[in-house]
Amino acid sequence: MTRTTPPRPDDIVAAFPQLAPLARTATRLHPRPGSPSPRESSVGGPLLWPAAEPWPHCEGTHRVPAVLPATSPADVRLLRGIRAAARARPPGARSYTPQERAVLDRAGAGRPCPQGPVAMLAVAQLYVREVPDLRPPEGADLLQVLWCPFDHPFDRPWGNMPRTELFWRSATAVGEVLTAPPQPPAIQYEDYLPQPCLVSPEQVTEYPLAAELDPDLRAQVRAWSARRKTGAEPGSAYDGAEDRYYDWELSVAPGWKAGGWAPWSFTDPAPQYCRACGSRMDPMLTIATKEWRADVRSWIPYEDRAGATQAGATRDAVRPDSAAPTMITVGDGYNQQIYACPAAPDHPHAALLQ
Ligand SMILES: [Zn+2]
Ligand SMILES: [Zn+2]
Repeated sequence: MTRTTPPRPDDIVAAFPQLAPLARTATRLHPRPGSPSPRESSVGGPLLWPAAEPWPHCEGTHRVPAVLPATSPADVRLLRGIRAAARARPPGARSYTPQERAVLDRAGAGRPCPQGPVAMLAVAQLYVREVPDLRPPEGADLLQVLWCPFDHPFDRPWGNMPRTELFWRSATAVGEVLTAPPQPPAIQYEDYLPQPCLVSPEQVTEYPLAAELDPDLRAQVRAWSARRKTGAEPGSAYDGAEDRYYDWELSVAPGWKAGGWAPWSFTDPAPQYCRACGSRMDPMLTIATKEWRADVRSWIPYEDRAGATQAGATRDAVRPDSAAPTMITVGDGYNQQIYACPAAPDHPHAALLQ
């Protein structure tokens, strides 16, 4: 299984040689649904977790939903299974059967929110041998990411996204592997349970978004972009946004990735500094709601082009978005950007919603 990002539609360094020193590699993870084992890199797959080590639980205060009922991981799997089964039937036979409808109604009714510590969910595990843009501490070759499946109060750093914990370890030091990790009795949203995915890491080259460039170069790049997209089709992505061409197609790759440049969106770029030592932190991992925009298609790997949802296509529960294979949503459809301290990997990480 490989995934291949097409070459960028323009050679931006030929147009702006001063961007060359800003080139960074990023490893696009390309998660796609599958059945990963603990010995493989994955999103939402089983972790190579030592049987002798306690599973992480979140003991924070939780912001319990007022309207939406919580759900359980088992019910989310049931719901997704029923939708997938309906999707696999011929057109015309995709309505839910009465039995399916009964399960959907029962599972959709929700569960009480748990009191006390909540078992965290496995979000990703990445073997450094497959993901060259990870920078492990000495002796570690495996990164494991978990998150709390409940929202936290807005006045704390994790108010607008799931609270993550990162664990670096040496795979050979794990010994006996935990086979049945604790599951939270409920999770706040279906969208906080990543669908098990295998990954197909691919290294690409990135440049900073225009907003991160110095003002002169930023203005030049935007003017150049606007010229390249002059005459954008009415209603297309670039209609009225011609100067975003560099941002959307030539700088930062969308989707789950390690390293690279940050996908700033609704805030101005702001350097992130380590809380422990003050070092400027680097983007380490992007947890993405979407792998690509339906209306800007050049980042879609060749292997996914035929099945990629078209821009403007109607979506519903039975026809999920092909750009969201992990089925997670952070902050209404953004990216959770994890930063690590370059001076000491055991310093606390930081996260931003972008
Ligand atoms: Zn929590
Ligand atoms: Zn530090």
